[in-house]
Amino acid sequence: MLLAVFDIGGTNIKYGVGDSEGYLVVEKVTSTEAFKGGGKLVGRIKTLTKDLQKDWAIEGVAISTAGSIDSKAGKVIYATETIPGYSGMNVKQILETELQLPVELENDVHCGALGELSKDVSSDAHNLLFLTIGTGIGGSLALNGQIHKGSTHLAGAIGHMNLYPNGRLCLCGQRGCFEQYASASRLEQKIQEVNPQQQLPAFMEKVKCGDNASVKLFHEWLDDLALGLQSLIYIWNPDSVVIGGGISAQGKWLEQEIEKAVFRNLLDPFKEKLTIRLAKNGNRSNLLGAIKNYELQQVRRGAK
Ligand SMILES: [Zn+2]
Repeated sequence: MLLAVFDIGGTNIKYGVGDSEGYLVVEKVTSTEAFKGGGKLVGRIKTLTKDLQKDWAIEGVAISTAGSIDSKAGKVIYATETIPGYSGMNVKQILETELQLPVELENDVHCGALGELSKDVSSDAHNLLFLTIGTGIGGSLALNGQIHKGSTHLAGAIGHMNLYPNGRLCLCGQRGCFEQYASASRLEQKIQEVNPQQQLPAFMEKVKCGDNASVKLFHEWLDDLALGLQSLIYIWNPDSVVIGGGISAQGKWLEQEIEKAVFRNLLDPFKEKLTIRLAKNGNRSNLLGAIKNYELQQVRRGAK
């Protein structure tokens, strides 16, 4: 069965055609034009689906999107003003009426987690904590293979976990939030406070070469990341911590550094089954997760 698959971010929409085996074809990118608002955005998803239908026998629409989503109702519970008017929209209902196809949607971080979750329930990626480390920090927790959504679909807002009371001011209005210390943006900011011309890849090379000042700055960031991760590991006892988002482009070296920093002060029993790794599917994990969410929701609705 072929699905039209969308990954709606604040800047771009990635989309294509996929099947339930996770095979993706026709991967395209277009600008979200978020400033035009939720109504126009949903209209574009309809148009893009109709374009795909010209060449493919599309039987459903799977969407990963920015914003907090009630995936049962198919509704946007909350989205920032990056996409005006998106909050409160029942995207599923609108698109199903317009397209006469089943539509399922889920938040992009939860889709990222689903995209990294193994189908094999006996595998080590069954209790998985997924983080996106980029401009901010997003989180998603899969327990026994199911995404934990919380009582009002907001679970996973780990970027606003308090790391330093009375610390740096966050966009949420509080002080000392995790993402104000351990996001990729914060690392870039720290680097540029020292040298405004310095970019992240060049800085990372200096760290690898053992440049003292760079190593010290990197470890300040890494220790804050590890501190937050340790609390999350103590609460959830996951078997996998998977890191996605912009920072994951740094590769195996960063994976090992994070693991060392987290394991250094973690109680031994929590290390037993735990692996810490970077996301395997890169920027495709949201699309793959949107397909998995489509399958899960359709089964839950008794449609399959
Ligand atoms: Zn905050």
